[in-house]
Amino acid sequence: MAGAVLLRTGRLDHIEVDPARRVARVGAGTRWRPLLTRAAKHGLTGLAGSSPAVSVAGFLTDGGLSWFSRGYGWAADSVRAFEVPRLREIKKARDPHRVFRANFPVLG
Ligand SMILES: Cc1cc2nc3c(=O)[nH]c(=O)nc-3n(C[C@H](O)[C@H](O)[C@H](O)COP(=O)(O)OP(=O)(O)OC[C@H]3O[C@@H](n4cnc5c(N)ncnc54)[C@H](O)[C@@H]3O)c2cc1C
Repeated sequence: MAGAVLLRTGRLDHIEVDPARRVARVGAGTRWRPLLTRAAKHGLTGLAGSSPAVSVAGFLTDGGLSWFSRGYGWAADSVRAFEVPRLREIKKARDPHRVFRANFPVLG
């Protein structure tokens, strides 16, 4: 782990569900359970796996084999976008926390 940066993402848990577009936008630490609960209010669900306790981001970066994978394939194939803030962007932001709330960190 030498030279590594450890980020705790648990509090980056915002969820937006757009029922018209059938798209959700979630924070880096959002877990499946609250997302599925929110989506269900609109009669929607997501390509979650067997545990609602894992994070959406961790599941998707692993590919994500869902209950519905026979019909829809890997969950990662349904991702519209990952947003990765650059360090430069975070340093310039008036409110660095806002950058993390509004984006989906951090790959690579
Ligand atoms: C009980 C249980 C049931 C499971 N069932 C399934 C299943 O049905 N189908 C399936 O495909 N998988 C399943 N998994 C595997 C699970 O999807 C993976 O272990 C997943 O990586 C867990 O992600 P996490 O973020 O919760 O865990 P973590 O260990 O915190 O993260 C896993 C990896 O993802 C990275 N990561 C997490 N968040 C981010 C982020 N925001 N940006 C970049 N990298 C990030 C972490 O750095 C780490 O390398 C299951 C796991 C458990 C424990």
